[in-house]
Amino acid sequence: MCFRPPETKKPKKCGACGFFNPPQNTICKKCGAELPATMIPCPECGVPQPMNVKICENCGYNGKPGSGDPTKRKA
Ligand SMILES: [Zn+2]
Ligand SMILES: [Zn+2]
Repeated sequence: MCFRPPETKKPKKCGACGFFNPPQNTICKKCGAELPATMIPCPECGVPQPMNVKICENCGYNGKPGSGDPTKRKA
């Protein structure tokens, strides 16, 4: 199995000045413009969530395996 979260390690490019910021940054280090939130798919339902969200908005997954609503899972 070769699973790696797609967006977590990628630097975020500032749309305003083009500076590459660490992925956890929410604003550009160089110019202070707001950066788009890094989206990672929920492990239980697969719906992309902003990285800083702790509870999945779709299924309610909170980090514990099986905590998500199985009926909300993507087929
Ligand atoms: Zn910038
Ligand atoms: Zn979910």
